[in-house]
Amino acid sequence: MTKRELEVTDPAKILEILDKSKVTHIGLVDDGMPYIVPMNYGYIMEDGRLTLILHCAVKGYKLEVIAKNPVCCFEMECDVVPFEGRVPCQYGTAYSSLMGRGTIEIVEDVQEKIRLMTIFMKTQCGKDFEFNEKLVSIVTMMKVNVDEYTAKERPLPAVLRADYKE
Ligand SMILES: Cc1cc2nc3c(=O)[nH]c(=O)nc-3n(C[C@H](O)[C@H](O)[C@H](O)COP(=O)(O)OP(=O)(O)OC[C@H]3O[C@@H](n4cnc5c(N)ncnc54)[C@H](O)[C@@H]3O)c2cc1C
Repeated sequence: MTKRELEVTDPAKILEILDKSKVTHIGLVDDGMPYIVPMNYGYIMEDGRLTLILHCAVKGYKLEVIAKNPVCCFEMECDVVPFEGRVPCQYGTAYSSLMGRGTIEIVEDVQEKIRLMTIFMKTQCGKDFEFNEKLVSIVTMMKVNVDEYTAKERPLPAVLRADYKE
């Protein structure tokens, strides 16, 4: 990361970004051509290892691409606050973001689909929903087995923060 001072390594802050972002942009490669698709996600963080959970319909372009080439990259962001300045170069956007690379795995096992869908909804809504075989039979469930990720936070300039003192 070029601006090392903005890198986030605190595990609690990384979980906060994963909890708040709600939408990830999944980057795929179709025979050398990029394809990016926004999707909601759930996540599992175990021993520092991140897995994203995705769900979608049973057919569509992204599934055709994934069948040919399951590698992906992803990005998500939260706390996006545009700010102004006196001159154009003082304008900017505060944000927290997370991005990485991994491999997508289609999950076929019904009990695992139910488990993943439950986690997906917990991430999205903070609620514990119950699923059954019928409900998960109409969706495709995927895991992104994440190989590497980084997180970054660009805070508001000090003078714009509520706690600023001259
Ligand atoms: C905030 C947000 C959250 C979403 N969450 C999910 C989710 O959790 N699961 C899910 O399956 N889908 C989600 N979607 C919809 C998703 O972005 C795709 O539209 C959908 O999954 C179909 O993708 P596909 O590759 O199968 O496209 P297809 O329906 O097969 O269509 C292919 C073509 O349609 C166009 N297209 C597809 N998607 C979009 C788009 N979003 N915007 C503009 N053009 C598009 C592109 O040109 C693409 O090449 C979400 C969209 C948004 C904006």
